[in-house]
Amino acid sequence: MNIKQCPLCRNDVVQGTAMFSAELGDGVLVVRNVPAVICPVCGNKWFDHDTMLKLEAVADNARSRHALVEIITFDAA
Ligand SMILES: [Zn+2]
Repeated sequence: MNIKQCPLCRNDVVQGTAMFSAELGDGVLVVRNVPAVICPVCGNKWFDHDTMLKLEAVADNARSRHALVEIITFDAA
């Protein structure tokens, strides 16, 4: 991820972690501690491609188990 400036408010962005959430049809997935680029001013956040792939895999897994509420911590490994 090569964002240096927030495209919305033009402030410098920082590396950090953020929460990702997704609807799974019947359920809700929340992944905490996801590495992200964050705008400290407006709160926008971006996940890089590899992170998105992992989040999609986690979501598919939760969906296949028909999880109603799944709250996990992101595993960077
Ligand atoms: Zn911003």
